[in-house]
Amino acid sequence: MTAPAVVLSIVIPVFNEAEVLPQLFAELGRVRAGVLRGEGPLEIILVDDGSRDATWSLIAAQCRRDPACVGVKLSRNFGHQLALAAGLETARGEAVVSMDADLQDPPDVIPELLAAHRQGYDVVYATRASRGQEPWGKRVTARWFYFAIEKLSGVPIPRNTGDFRLMSRRALAELARLHEAHRFLRGLVPWIGFPQTQITYDRGDRAAGETHYPWHKMLRLAVDGIASMSMAPLRLAFAVSLGLFAVFVGYILYVLFKHFVLGELLVPGWTSIMSAITIFGTIQLLLLGVFGEYLGRVYEQVKHRPLYIIQEIQRAAPEGAPPCSP
Ligand code: UDP
Ligand code: MG
Repeated sequence: MTAPAVVLSIVIPVFNEAEVLPQLFAELGRVRAGVLRGEGPLEIILVDDGSRDATWSLIAAQCRRDPACVGVKLSRNFGHQLALAAGLETARGEAVVSMDADLQDPPDVIPELLAAHRQGYDVVYATRASRGQEPWGKRVTARWFYFAIEKLSGVPIPRNTGDFRLMSRRALAELARLHEAHRFLRGLVPWIGFPQTQITYDRGDRAAGETHYPWHKMLRLAVDGIASMSMAPLRLAFAVSLGLFAVFVGYILYVLFKHFVLGELLVPGWTSIMSAITIFGTIQLLLLGVFGEYLGRVYEQVKHRPLYIIQEIQRAAPEGAPPCSP
């Protein structure tokens, strides 16, 4: 007798979330006993992204108790996107839902995602109808960022979606073929295509603990997003240099005209020379920075390093054992 296939995998990247994990386990238990009852065998993959608190011991304990639970411990903190990648690659389900650990993505929405998937959609995004008490600055920057990235990349990116989404097995198989070191899943998933749709939900606040996305990490995500989805900054660099070249030629013509035609001597030109040097110097450094960002990516990519390293996997059932029902 062959083991029944896993119908649903729930993938959750976890970083220093010891405070929120007991609540997460309780919520998942409630949903499995309730709305997910009868959906068929499922698994919950918890990826510990190098936490420094009690996160792993909590995950390991849960996975010893619960045969549906799989704990994946990364060897260090690789970041949210790569932790997610590790979880997605471990998942065996026909449909795979990814969500955050802090209960900002309510598991009650999962049956709706599944229902949309059964209507034939390969990717179902859970879109935030509201963003809870998120700071004003974060909402505004998020809006501008998604607008910019969509315009620059030409890939339609659903608004107000995080990484709470369902993907079918075939969509995941295609995603697994994209071996980019700097991955921006929110752009790559729309890029792979197939029928995609969205459902809406109300995004609450963190159940406990603090955000792990301080400004510098968000900025990193934004740069990764733009640079991995678009070459527009490079093209912009070229356009800026062309524009500056035109200005520069105009200026030289003006100086030559003054000198030879009008016979004026431009000795007191200190200010204009200094401003020209400063402006051109700054712009060159800026453009070099843009080139550097892309060159760095090429360098990272040619190294062919693995995206992440798994230190330990914890499951109650031995590998290959039949999956369990909710
Ligand atoms: N996370 C992670 N690695 C990190 C940072 C965050 O795995 O380096 C996880 C975190 O535990 C959570 C999810 O990614 O499950 C989203 O993080 P968070 O809730 O802090 O982000 P926010 O919702 O504030 O954007
Ligand atoms: Mg959160």
